[in-house]
Amino acid sequence: MSLNKYSEKRNFSSTNEPKAEIGSLKNELIFVVQKHAASHLHYDFRLEMEGVLKSWAIPKGPSMNPADKRLAIMVEDHPYSYKDFEGIIPEGNYGAGKVIVWDYGAYTLAENPEKVENRFNEGLIKGHLNFVLKGNKLKGEFSLVKLKGKQENAWLLIKKNDEFAEKNDILRQDKSVISNQKLEDLFG
Ligand code: MN
Repeated sequence: MSLNKYSEKRNFSSTNEPKAEIGSLKNELIFVVQKHAASHLHYDFRLEMEGVLKSWAIPKGPSMNPADKRLAIMVEDHPYSYKDFEGIIPEGNYGAGKVIVWDYGAYTLAENPEKVENRFNEGLIKGHLNFVLKGNKLKGEFSLVKLKGKQENAWLLIKKNDEFAEKNDILRQDKSVISNQKLEDLFG
C-alpha cells in the first residue's frame, strides 16, 4: 500500500486535505463514503486496509437496490485520516470542490474473518470483493466486481439481496453524518 500517487496529485500548502500518513490500525476496519462536488458530482467509496483507504469514485453513487450496478472507478489510495475530511478543496487544486462525509461505519469482509489482509489482497487481484457494511445509511452485504476487458480500474458496486436491500433511493438522505450539513450548505 502506498500513498505516493495521493501526494503527487496534491500541494499541501494549498489544500487542507490530510497529508499522506499511514494510519494506526484499530480493532475495527472502517469504510467511508464522501460526497464530492468536483468538476463532476460523484461519491468516493473507501475501504480501510493496511493503514490506508482503498478508494473508488462512483459517479452515480451507491445504491441499496440489488438491481443497480454502479460503476466504480478505482483511484489512488487515500490516507486513513481522510475518513474525517469534509470541507472545501480550493480552486486550482486536484479535486477542487466541496466534500462531505456522506456515510461512515465499520466493515467486515464477508465469509470467514481470518487473515483479512491476505483475503482483501486476493480479492483485489481476483477483481472480486465481498464485504458487509455497518454504516448509518449503507448496511448489509455488497460486492465490488472488476469489469474484465473494459476500461482499466473499472469496477461495479452491487448490493447483495439481503434484509437491508431496498428500492428507495438512499442518496436522498443527503446530509453529512459528521456535521449534519448538506453539501450545498458548506461555505468557503
Ligand atoms: Mn472524489
